[in-house]
Amino acid sequence: MNEYKVCGSGGVYIHVPYCRKRCIYCDFYSAGVVQADWRRLVDAFLTEFDMRKEECPEKTDTLYIGGGTPSLLPAKEFERLSTGLRQRLGDSDIKEFTIEVNPEDVTVDSIALWQAYGVNRISVGVQSFDNRLLHTVGRLHDGETARRALRLLSSRCPNVSGDLIFGLPGQNVEGFCRDVREMLDMGVKHLSAYSLMYEERTALTQLRNDGRLREADEMDSVEMFSLLCRLTEAYGLKRYELSNYALPGYESQHNSLYWYGKPYLGLGPSAHSYDGKRTRRWNAGDIRMYLRTYTTSEPSPDLQDKLITREILTDEELREEEIMTRLRTTSGLDCYAYKLHWGEQAWKKLRYKVSRHVEAGNLCFKGNMLSLTERGVMISDEVIVDLF
Ligand code: SF4
Repeated sequence: MNEYKVCGSGGVYIHVPYCRKRCIYCDFYSAGVVQADWRRLVDAFLTEFDMRKEECPEKTDTLYIGGGTPSLLPAKEFERLSTGLRQRLGDSDIKEFTIEVNPEDVTVDSIALWQAYGVNRISVGVQSFDNRLLHTVGRLHDGETARRALRLLSSRCPNVSGDLIFGLPGQNVEGFCRDVREMLDMGVKHLSAYSLMYEERTALTQLRNDGRLREADEMDSVEMFSLLCRLTEAYGLKRYELSNYALPGYESQHNSLYWYGKPYLGLGPSAHSYDGKRTRRWNAGDIRMYLRTYTTSEPSPDLQDKLITREILTDEELREEEIMTRLRTTSGLDCYAYKLHWGEQAWKKLRYKVSRHVEAGNLCFKGNMLSLTERGVMISDEVIVDLF
């Protein structure tokens, strides 16, 4: 089991809601880039921050620009956004500033721009180096563009993360193994490797349902995951969350906020926020409504109310959330703290369910920390829901 330290206290997330083209598996909110009014969008982000600044975590040390495709932001608007946010947040307090980028946007100039305005972590959406697979899922870049982007990034940026997907239609174990090796050979310090999900209302799911595309063999996906664990380990990266691997010290501090119940403020259409106590808020995934709310001459709380949904978590929901998020991490759930917080009865109920999964080899204890085994990770949703 790998222990890692979460240094982040709170964060701000920005959702850039535009992409050049929709990838067929993606269910994130994004609109076509031809409609983008970048200047107005950045105005809206900054106004939203100003109107919601009391919701911003007291101590904010991570900043994350995700999407969508943030690397589409024109230089001038990226400069305005990052400068505006850093001024508002207190520049010196930001320890980790991440931008998600697509390989086709990575150039010497774009890297220099991102770094000049404080970015110190770049996460690149490679997904695969195999042209046939990239084409199948609708990615715009090819393997060579991804390689070129990684070469440029690795030589200029000390903290690069790469994304891969496994279980792609038509992907085999050997091909995935080549992808992982190639990514690690490029010197990334962090790797996110996700099993392909068939989300509702995506073109991918529609194609499968129509019989025009076959899901990857389940046994192949299991083998790919096992291979991924072995290979990353051989390169010195440790798995610290279900889908995330890092060299020690390169774990994503921002994403860790989500798994450790820390507060964050999400700006932009479809962005989620959490106050670290029991209130969640999320913006509607509607760019027109978003821009109307924050770029009218007098943005009003009434308009804002229509955009934001709020949810107050019950004790039961908080307890389940604690189990679910902590078990995503390899550090796991602190059972001592759980018992102390939720009481003897809640702990007894959980312990009873846990013991069955320990016997089945899905969960294990290290002292008072409970975590998923490698076998448990493959069926994590099932195991976690069973503990509720
Ligand atoms: S995967 Fe990324 S680039 Fe593709 S549609 Fe989704 S957000 Fe856009």
